[in-house]
Amino acid sequence: GKRGRLDRLLAVHLQIPRKRVRALLAEGRISLNGDTVSAPDLQVDEFCKLALDGELLLGWDPVYLMLHKPAGIISATSDAEQATLMQLLPEALHPGLHIVGRLDKHSSGLVLLTNDSRWSESLMQPDAHVPKLYRVTLANPVAPEAVQAFAEGMYFGFEDITTRPARLVIEAPRVALVELTEGRYHQIKRMFGRFRNPVVTLHRLKVGNISLDADLAPGQWRHLSAEEVADAR
Ligand code: URA
Repeated sequence: GKRGRLDRLLAVHLQIPRKRVRALLAEGRISLNGDTVSAPDLQVDEFCKLALDGELLLGWDPVYLMLHKPAGIISATSDAEQATLMQLLPEALHPGLHIVGRLDKHSSGLVLLTNDSRWSESLMQPDAHVPKLYRVTLANPVAPEAVQAFAEGMYFGFEDITTRPARLVIEAPRVALVELTEGRYHQIKRMFGRFRNPVVTLHRLKVGNISLDADLAPGQWRHLSAEEVADAR
């Protein structure tokens, strides 16, 4: 998000000279996210919570949502031509909202959205290895050898990487559950591509500890509970 100096933000917001802002800071009358602050050059972002004498000046309400993405909609916040996820959500929730881990256009299922970039970064940073669970239907029966190949990891020459161990469970001849702890470009499609087995549908069931609510039809969304937000990973 946007960042800037604390004294400047306060001067603009309160419509007073910076000199007076510095006096308020020196008097210990300003708090930032609940803590008294005094340094005028502190870098703050647009989502910080600022109070004067305990009264909120600038607030920010964090928003955390789960959405059942329908197939055929792109995971972007805006696009000139195509329908996006954002159009499924009320406009009042749009400011600062971003997608926590995209799905391909033809994939469906759980997508998390938030305006809290600290939360989304903690879930999506590559080192966190947050597991994501998918149900995949395939054009052909799943080869039994695929289970071991997914577990061992596959070399992708394009990126020069070997995929992390992935769990593959064959549920029915053409239906599999796949758990990844990373998100390479079209990863699942490419992994089944090694077995010449095209993916027909790809549906995300779970991200970290958050499961797609079975009551949500494609296109529907709900707020996350406090527990889901706190225990996401
Ligand atoms: N793997 C894919 O190929 N597509 C997705 O949307 C997610 C994982």
